[in-house]
This record gives sequence, C-alpha cells and structure tokens, in this order.
Amino acid sequence: MSYDVMVVGGGIVGCAVADRLARLDLSVILLERDDDVASYATRANSGIVHAGYDCEPGTAKARFNVRGNAMMWNLAEELDVPCRKCGSLVVAPEEGLEGLEELKRKADSNGVVTEILDREGTLKKEPNVSDNVAYALYAPEAGVISPYQLAIALADRAVLNGAEVVTEAEVTAISRENNLWRAHTPKGTFDAKYVVNCAGPEAAAVNGFVGEEVYETEYRRGDYFVLDNTEGKNVSTVIFPLPTAAGKGILVAPTADGNVIYGPTSVPTYDGDTAVTAEALDEIRRSVPLTYARPAFNKCIRIYCGVRTVIGHDFIIRKSDRAENFVMACGICSPGLTSAPAIAEYIEELLVSCGMERRPKADAVTVMPRKLRLESLSEERLNTLVKENPAWGKIVCRCEKVTEAEIVEAIHSPVPATTVDAVKRRVRAGMGRCQGGFCATRVMEIISRETGMPLDEIRKGIGHSEIAVLAVKEADYD
Ligand SMILES: Cc1cc2nc3c(=O)[nH]c(=O)nc-3n(C[C@H](O)[C@H](O)[C@H](O)COP(=O)(O)OP(=O)(O)OC[C@H]3O[C@@H](n4cnc5c(N)ncnc54)[C@H](O)[C@@H]3O)c2cc1C
Repeated sequence: MSYDVMVVGGGIVGCAVADRLARLDLSVILLERDDDVASYATRANSGIVHAGYDCEPGTAKARFNVRGNAMMWNLAEELDVPCRKCGSLVVAPEEGLEGLEELKRKADSNGVVTEILDREGTLKKEPNVSDNVAYALYAPEAGVISPYQLAIALADRAVLNGAEVVTEAEVTAISRENNLWRAHTPKGTFDAKYVVNCAGPEAAAVNGFVGEEVYETEYRRGDYFVLDNTEGKNVSTVIFPLPTAAGKGILVAPTADGNVIYGPTSVPTYDGDTAVTAEALDEIRRSVPLTYARPAFNKCIRIYCGVRTVIGHDFIIRKSDRAENFVMACGICSPGLTSAPAIAEYIEELLVSCGMERRPKADAVTVMPRKLRLESLSEERLNTLVKENPAWGKIVCRCEKVTEAEIVEAIHSPVPATTVDAVKRRVRAGMGRCQGGFCATRVMEIISRETGMPLDEIRKGIGHSEIAVLAVKEADYD
C-alpha cells in the first residue's frame, strides 16, 4: 500500500502528528513497534503539563513547551482526556530564594506567568509543603494530564479521520523505491511520499536508515511511587524542588485520575531499562520529605520506571537536508509530553515546506464522542443503560469501578485494545489498589471472547507476556 505520509513511532509525538495530518486531505499511516501506542516514554512519565519557566530561553524546548501548554487544555477537552490545570510550585528553603529569582527571570524571558510566594502565600496554594519551605515559584498555567490516554485519544481520532495505525510493526529498514520511501516491518512493507521519524528511543537509528545523522543518544531512567487515590485529597498542586543540572528533581504531584506520584529519579541507563531499583526508591524516600510534609509511602500501590531519550541539550526537530521528504523529531525528552501538540503543528509546517499539499478535510472529526463512565452516571441513566445492555450492570474492576461494557468498548475502540495493559490504559481496569488481582483474569476472558483469541495467547502487554501458560485441568503431568 502507498500513503502520502508515514509516521514512524506511536508515542505522544507520533500520535499528535498522525492526528493533525489525518485532518487534512491526506492518506496517513502510523507504524508502531509495540502492541499498542503510548508504550515507551509516553506510558511512564510524570504527566505534568509544564508551564515552561525552566527551559533555557531561545531553545526549541522553551518554544514548544510554552506553545504546547497553551494548546493542551483545549485539545484535552476535544479529546475527552482527564486533566487538571492545578498549577505548580517550585519550593525552596530560605537560602533558595536566589534560585527561584533566577527561574523567574527565565520564566519572564519565555513569556510564562509566574509569581514568587512567601511561606504564607505558598501554604494557601498547598497546605502540605514541608516545614523548611520558605518561598515558592508559583506557575498557574501548569497542570496534570493522563499521558497515555492523551496519546491513545489522538491515535483514535486519527483513525476516525481515516489514518491507519499498525502495531507490532517495527520499522527495521527504509529503502527508496520509485521516488517513495518504503518501510520494512514484520507486518510487511509500506510505501509513502513523506516520512516523519518519531521513533523516540530509536529515532537516531531510524535516521540512519535514510543516511541521516545517527545522533549519539543517552537514556535516563526515572523511577516512581504511585499512591492510592485516598491520598489525592492531600496534594492540590505539583510540588517541585529547585531544579539542578540533573533535571527538574523529585516531585510530588496529583495525577489526572486522582492518585499521587512521588518521583522521578534521573539515572543514566540503557534503552528499555524499566526495572525499578531499590537505590532509586531510597532516593525518593529521602527527597520527598524535603518538600512535602505528609509523605505516605505506606499508601504505595505500585512502583514504575520510565526512560528518557536524550540527545544533547535540546529537541532536534527538522527536515532532512540529506534525505528528501524526511522529517525528524529526535531527542524528545522532557518536556516532550507538554510540547507534543506544538511539535506536531511545526512538523506540519515542515512537511508543507517539503511540498506536501495542505487541504483540510471537510468532514474531519474534531470533538471525540464522550465516553460513558460508571462513576459519572446518575442512577436513572445507569438503570436505562443496564436495560439496553446488561454489561453495564457487571462491575469487573472493583477498585476503579469499571464495568464490562466499558471494557468491551475499549477492546473495540478505533485503536483496539488487545492486551490486559492496553485495556488498563484505556479504562483503568487494574489501576486501583489491588492492581488487577481481582479483575485481570476477567479482562482476559472478555478480550478472548470479543476477539476470538485463545485465552493462553492473551498477553499482559509488550512482547512475550502471555499470562496463562498452561491449561491445568487438561494438562498431562506425567
Ligand atoms: C521519567 C520521565 C518523566 C517525564 N515527565 C514528563 C512530564 O511530566 N511532562 C512532560 O512534558 N514530559 C515528560 N517526560 C517526557 C515525555 O514523556 C517524552 O518527551 C515523550 O513521551 C516522548 O514522546 P515520543 O513520542 O517522542 O517518544 P516515545 O514515547 O518514546 O515513543 C516512541 C515510540 O516509537 C516506537 N518505536 C521505536 N522504534 C520504532 C521503530 N523502529 N519502528 C516503529 N516504532 C518504533 C516506540 O515503541 C514508541 O512507542 C518525561 C519522560 C520520562 C521518561
């Protein structure tokens, strides 16, 4: 098959690019290596929509962060993605005032609204900062969003607007055939006039496929604690320490879905290293009390780790000067989630400058259909739904109160959920206190029933992660 544009990589950047281009009169294909979109850094980060005060003025990071933040809230509303503009605080002890003033100067240069608060003002925004906090830099435009739900919703909207999303299609080579780029994947070959490289950790390697710069890439892990949603009421805003050369530091933040996170660390590592370490957890245990007065590590329901892809000090977003009609987004580390809508906007401009025609699709979907959620239904509405579809009356995930109807909808969504984790990221089944202890097997049965896949082929997530390895009742134990 031949397409106008091929997007390589279905992280937040690739999904945002596919979504934008699918609203034009173009044929678009997104090729993703893993079983689902949002499977690498986009799956495991802090979910902060940064205000943009700490990026070096004049950098691509500063430009795309500030513009991305401005675009984000309307985008989340269109896509029906959980988010909260709760503001952020960089808190500091008495001797940290100079550091905050330095940050404020950067904020002013970047055009970001901030205010330095004394302790009294800080406590009004966040009553639970620790006793040593004397000042804070308050950024009202910051907030939190569900990063994977944002990427999934962008990919879903792209599909509704005619794009194709192919998962488990790692691009292993790109060749030039009849003036088109040909991507080679385990799912076959795909041709396109334009290629957009959004391959995150492998973006430098994908550049190499077309003779472009293979940037030296570093990876930095970030570990986290996730706390039970009963802690959500104690954290009103995102609390950062003063940033250091290693990054923004270990934060305490509410999540868009009502939990609280502590993290991340910033430790050099290798691509794909997502195993949390004891040292990392100890570092978080030591750091959190310096900014936050009510650490509740006993309320931890999960730990996780994400990996940043870092190339030099800035994002690299440009069209190739060696390979025709090839555009790249490399080294998209933090604040890449916040920046993604603005990066996609710029990539569209780059493609137009390569000769891509820009004609808006007349009937493009912009506002996504609202998803029904058990928790937000009135009793009367729920009763009507149960009469129409009894699956609304069956609660599968008790912790997060997710019904069978919501899970079935996720399995049949525009980018279908075919693993237990893919269902979890869409409807939160398994995200609660028991972490899927009760519902994972029910989710497997529903996936099996809805897709026809045998139960022992249902996977948890990426790679060979089959959960049911043996049918014990029929097994021969000789
Ligand atoms: C610990 C941590 C905390 C962070 N916190 C924040 C935050 O709070 N706010 C913020 O704005 N940003 C944050 N970030 C940064 C943000 O998460 C990333 O910048 C963003 O997710 C990068 O998106 P991406 O699409 O470029 O890459 P990824 O999300 O890495 O996606 C790349 C995709 O390409 C696929 N792929 C790779 N190779 C191939 C191939 N050959 N063929 C096909 N597909 C391929 C991968 O499977 C993956 O799905 C954080 C990052 C980390 C790790």
